[in-house]
Amino acid sequence: MDMLIGGKHVSSDDVEEVKNPYNGEIIDTVPIAHLQTADLAIMEANKAKDVLIEMSAFKISNKLYNVVEKLKEKRQEFAELLTLEVGKPINESLMELDRSIETLKLAAEEAKRIYGESVPLDAGLNGKGFFAFTQRLPLGVVVAITPFNYPLNLTIHKIAPAIACKNAVIVKPPTEAPLTVMKFCELLNEEFPGAVNTVTGYGSEVGNYLVSSPDVDKISFTGSITTGLMISQRAGMKKVTLELGGNDPMIVLNDADIDKAVTGVINGAFLNAGQVCMGVKRIIIDNGIADEFCEKLVKETEKLVMGNPLDSKTTLGTLISEKAAIQVEETVNNAVNDGAKILAGGIREGAFYHATVIDNVTSDMDLVVNETFGPVAPIIRVNNLDEAIGIANNTDYGLQAGVFTNDYSAAMRCAKEIEAGTVFINKQSTFRTDNMPFGGFKNSGVGKEGIKYAVAEMTKTKLIGLNLR
Ligand code: NAP
Repeated sequence: MDMLIGGKHVSSDDVEEVKNPYNGEIIDTVPIAHLQTADLAIMEANKAKDVLIEMSAFKISNKLYNVVEKLKEKRQEFAELLTLEVGKPINESLMELDRSIETLKLAAEEAKRIYGESVPLDAGLNGKGFFAFTQRLPLGVVVAITPFNYPLNLTIHKIAPAIACKNAVIVKPPTEAPLTVMKFCELLNEEFPGAVNTVTGYGSEVGNYLVSSPDVDKISFTGSITTGLMISQRAGMKKVTLELGGNDPMIVLNDADIDKAVTGVINGAFLNAGQVCMGVKRIIIDNGIADEFCEKLVKETEKLVMGNPLDSKTTLGTLISEKAAIQVEETVNNAVNDGAKILAGGIREGAFYHATVIDNVTSDMDLVVNETFGPVAPIIRVNNLDEAIGIANNTDYGLQAGVFTNDYSAAMRCAKEIEAGTVFINKQSTFRTDNMPFGGFKNSGVGKEGIKYAVAEMTKTKLIGLNLR
């Protein structure tokens, strides 16, 4: 598949194969862009921003709704491509499509709500006799860099608000899974010619170049902390939004509904084979109920169906690559060598890693100190709420958190004391609606997404004051 720059297809002499992680087959190839192509995209995006700024909000909103309809028509086709390149079960891909459609709709609505406000300058010294108001203006060119795990919806979380507030976009999709995003940009180009440009190639080369360019106004990045840190160092004075990794805790207290919490782990630790930023990565459980909880969790884990991700019965797909699965295997094996005990799974087959429940984990094990991006549910046993909160916060991450309890005061204490962008009570961290403010504390990120919040980060405020004295 070619790149799309200035509304035209662009190829390169160098190409990268995109492989299906399930069977290793080549799905397609994409160009490896170099710096000249990145420059072309920057130039075209700067032209397109001048066209967008003249377009009415009414027209932008209608055109975004047209894209919604187009994506709805191609829902199945897009979901299948997503499954082929990422290895996620087809039902999860269809869910990603539904969320993508919803995200676009939210942006179509938000395009009509980009308000300024009137400002009472007479509340300040010497301000009497002024009339002042603010406008929210587009920044210009937004560079969107996205990861492999939810490539479509996470990219739409950047493109859609950017367009809604009249910015042109350059998208650098993930090298391992670029196709669904590129196909979506083709759809968008039918309504907004030239407004969205795709540049494929290596993040370390073109990604790095795009974020350093003085002709780019904003970087919106989702991916790992390591890359996020590099980007923030290279971005200079540009506005930057960083949606980074997570190491989300799930606290389960003595009085919790155990079945509900077990379902929370199944949906939170094993979704997308555990490759979810807000996945349940540490289960911090009260000793009093830990045995019963583990027994039930193992039973439910063993019901997961591993197989061809295109088969609708499959509930556990592959990881993005065999290399990624080997990394998870090594991390789990290291924890076992340090005293942890596997209750279910712990087996790798190619790019598959079996859903794994691992008990007797301590908070100093690499498995839970760093983000383990695989289908692993590590159990950390504790004796009381103080210990649970202490462990939940003993991390550099702070994306989301879940707490299972029926004790109102314990719930409120967790909500207050857990250092994370979101704390859910009686729900696992692995939950998001596309309108909510989403973004972590600590090393999990800077800024928020969720259409309205992304628009705020992709606009600048101008004040206009009229001296009526
Ligand atoms: P990654 O390795 O950081 O890659 C993300 C994107 O950054 C890719 O497009 C990559 O391109 C590009 N990139 C790499 N090096 C770059 C550089 N020096 N300059 C500019 N761009 C560069 O992350 P990943 O492995 O794909 O994704 C997994 C991570 O994303 C996990 O940590 C996960 O928690 C996090 N994540 C966070 C959220 C959130 O909303 N907070 C959501 C999903 C995932 P290449 O593919 O060409 O290397």
